[in-house]
Amino acid sequence: MQITYNLKPALERRAEQFNPTINVGFGNLRTDHMFLMDYRDGEWRDPRIVPYGPFEVAPGAIALHYGQSVFEGAKAFQHDDGEIYTFRIDKNAQRLNRSADILCIPALPEQMQIDAINALIDVDRLWFPMQEGACLYIRPFIFATEDRLSVSPSEQYTFCVMLSPSGPYYSDGFDKAIRLLITERFHRAVSGGTGASKAAGNYAASLKAGKAAAEYGAAQVLYLDANNKQIEEVGAMNHFHVLKDGTIVIPKFTDTILKSITSQSILDLGELLGCEVRQETVMLDQFISDIESGEIIEAGGFGTAAVVSPVGSYIFEDNRIVTVGNGGVGEHTKRIYKVLTDIQKGHLKGPEGWVQHVKRVHV
Ligand SMILES: *Cc1c(COP(=O)(O)O)cnc(C)c1O
Repeated sequence: MQITYNLKPALERRAEQFNPTINVGFGNLRTDHMFLMDYRDGEWRDPRIVPYGPFEVAPGAIALHYGQSVFEGAKAFQHDDGEIYTFRIDKNAQRLNRSADILCIPALPEQMQIDAINALIDVDRLWFPMQEGACLYIRPFIFATEDRLSVSPSEQYTFCVMLSPSGPYYSDGFDKAIRLLITERFHRAVSGGTGASKAAGNYAASLKAGKAAAEYGAAQVLYLDANNKQIEEVGAMNHFHVLKDGTIVIPKFTDTILKSITSQSILDLGELLGCEVRQETVMLDQFISDIESGEIIEAGGFGTAAVVSPVGSYIFEDNRIVTVGNGGVGEHTKRIYKVLTDIQKGHLKGPEGWVQHVKRVHV
């Protein structure tokens, strides 16, 4: 892939990034550039890196009206050698194509996606925050640009990659567990729908549920299946729990659960974590009674942004609260978080190929 570069004359850096005492937060900042590529006449063309800024989009663009748009979220880390490494970026590239397929968007070859991401990180590598626990958050996405009001798959698309220099998700330490709302009023996905894709519309559809959760002092909704019997996942995280013998249980992936790369990594690590990790159908009634009997000692969510989100309690719509363990962050949860983040930071050797060096070409 021959990428053309239209770079800003000088790499601008915001001063606060280089002051390690200021937390840059998660997802707030942008780097100087973005990667763009268009789909026209049946092929992906014109790969280019240009200054970050607004696009021109037709008011009739299909993505704006009918939501034909998918995205990914990944991270890159700076290791002690000063170089930047992506984490399991091949899995994100694969999944973008799986999401694209679900929304009738043409696939973009995985290697092209990876080359695009690497080229953009290379150009903007000086934006890596000088902060403990920092990363470059990588956001690739594809949206339908054809100007047409009839409902059928667009014949034109734009693929964009943007980067967000980010501080640690938990700025004041990994010590607070969240609460989740268990409700029958909202559902994220149904079988045969778009639940297994990172479709933009899935997130629009989750906003109302997020508001309801907040009314109960909960961070998010724990989504159940359409029959309100099984635990599925959280809006942007898979769900997990830990049994008292240390076994980690993740609900079985179905077409109503997004296959999290964080969950997949925990499953792949298994032995390295020093415990069994398995997937099974998790029935809500059993789950609650196992928490109450002490069979389940920890619970939480897995996702790229936070890596691990400990869940301390669940609240039902009748205000009944079920507390997991002592409601805090358990030892198993802490260990999972440490092993995964140590691999990402290069402090612990993970399986072959999980971290990939971003080559220096421009900077
Ligand atoms: C992105 C996402 C996750 C987490 O997936 P990761 O690959 O671990 O970041 C979980 N559930 C949903 C619905 C998501 O969109």
